[in-house]
Amino acid sequence: MTRILVVEDEAHLAEGLKFNLEAVGYSVDVSDDGESALERLSGAHGFDAVVLDVMLPGLSGFEVVSALRERGEFVPVLMLTARSRPEDVLQGFEAGADDYLPKPFELAILEARLRGLLRRREWSRGEQGVPKPLATVEFGGRTIDFEAMELRAGDRKTRLTTMEADLLRYLIEREGRVVARKTILTELWGLHEDTDTRAIDNFIVRLRRYLEDVPSRPKHLLTVRGVGYKFVSAADNG
Ligand code: CA
Repeated sequence: MTRILVVEDEAHLAEGLKFNLEAVGYSVDVSDDGESALERLSGAHGFDAVVLDVMLPGLSGFEVVSALRERGEFVPVLMLTARSRPEDVLQGFEAGADDYLPKPFELAILEARLRGLLRRREWSRGEQGVPKPLATVEFGGRTIDFEAMELRAGDRKTRLTTMEADLLRYLIEREGRVVARKTILTELWGLHEDTDTRAIDNFIVRLRRYLEDVPSRPKHLLTVRGVGYKFVSAADNG
C-alpha cells in the first residue's frame, strides 16, 4: 500500500486529508509539526510521498524539506503554500520541494499531483508496466538520467530534485533557443509573470555547479542578458 505522510497542524484539515486520501486507497499518517515529521522520515521510513504544509509551529515546511534534502532523503514532497504568496512557491522549490499546491485547493487536484509525484518515483525505480517518457541526455562528459533523476559525471552522481530536473529538461528540449525567464515562470512553473525571477537564477547557479567544468564560465547553460537562458550541448561557444 502506498504510504503518505501528511504534515499539517490544522487538525480539521489534516483529518480531512487523511480521510479523503484513505478513501482513494492510500495509507495516511499525520504529523502536526516539522520536528515529528523529520523523526518519522528518518532512515527506512517507508513513506512514498509527503504532503507538507508551509505554515507549521516550530520548523516551517521550508525548513523541513531542506533538512530532508540535506540528509539525503529524496522522498517526493508536495508543498501546500498560501495562494497570495508566490514567493512561498519559489522558496519551496529552492528548498527542494517537488511540487506545490496553493491553499485552498480542490481535493481532486491534490490527488492528481500526488499521483504525478508517485508515478515519477515509479519510473525512477524502473517498475513494470509504467511508461518511461523521460530520456537520458549526454553532453560534456555528463549523463543526465531523467528517469533516475540523476546526473553522472565520471564516478560522481548527483541527485536532482524534480524542479531541477524539470527546468533542465525544459531548457534541453529547446536547445539553441533563448528561453525567457517569464516563460519559465508562467509555462513551466504556472506562476504569474510578475513573480520575482531571482529564483530561476538561483536554480541556474545550482545547475551550473552540476553541469559546467567552470561554473562561472558556463559553456552549456548560457545567460542571454536581460532575457533568459539558452542550453547548448556542444561546448564550442567560447
Ligand atoms: Ca498549517
